[in-house]
Amino acid sequence: MSVLRSLLEAIGGGTVEVIDLTAPLSPETPVLQLPEPFGNTIPFSLSEISRYDDRGPAWYWNDIHTGEHTGTHFDAPIHWVTGKDGEDVSQVPVTRLIAPAVVLDFSAEAAADPDFLLQIEHVTNWEQEHGPLPEAGWLLYRTGWDVRSGDQARFLNADENGPHTPGISAECARWLAERSPIGGLGVETVGTDAGAAHSFDPAFPCHSFLLGAGKYGLTQLRNLDRLPVTGSVIVAPPLPIVGGSGSPVRVLALVESGAGR
Ligand code: MN
Repeated sequence: MSVLRSLLEAIGGGTVEVIDLTAPLSPETPVLQLPEPFGNTIPFSLSEISRYDDRGPAWYWNDIHTGEHTGTHFDAPIHWVTGKDGEDVSQVPVTRLIAPAVVLDFSAEAAADPDFLLQIEHVTNWEQEHGPLPEAGWLLYRTGWDVRSGDQARFLNADENGPHTPGISAECARWLAERSPIGGLGVETVGTDAGAAHSFDPAFPCHSFLLGAGKYGLTQLRNLDRLPVTGSVIVAPPLPIVGGSGSPVRVLALVESGAGR
């Protein structure tokens, strides 16, 4: 049987499960908030063009208002100054948009410390147990933060010192960018960097090192707890916005049944 026919039969029969890792897009979807004097993105919204009325008697449609980096979204290398000569979101090769994934679960550590940072030794210890990180695949970093994603204040978790959300140390971000084979990093938080990463050296090291190395980011993922540690395949195609630095994206995971955690 052909590979594609086998895949379709497996999906139809449930031996390959399709899991949606995407947060719904609405005006309530949390968005990043940068302090003055930086610019900020708009919340997602719809404006109605017609709804079976004088403006269009048989049809309903809307304009969408969104940032590139709103909700579950894809970061292209050109998003960061270190990747300014790299790919925009329309230039990412489509073969990179279907890729293997592994899940590193540090939700217990992040529950105990919202400023928890993944270190190189966490990743190398994980590799001792589960094998190497996937070539051109996604490292999906589970922190349990998706349970907060319905509430902007809890999701951003900011106080007078700024946001407190889990992330990755500067040393580990550099190692993932320069020494590991991954093609990208996926997270449950509003961005790939820790809430406190404005004060790291360099600032926002995941953006700086990974996008600078031509790697990608995925944010505001959910349902990572439903994925096996290894063996899933991620389908994450951003819109081909010409010149775009990022795009909202529907992220689907293909998981073989029995491959649970
Ligand atoms: Mn982004």
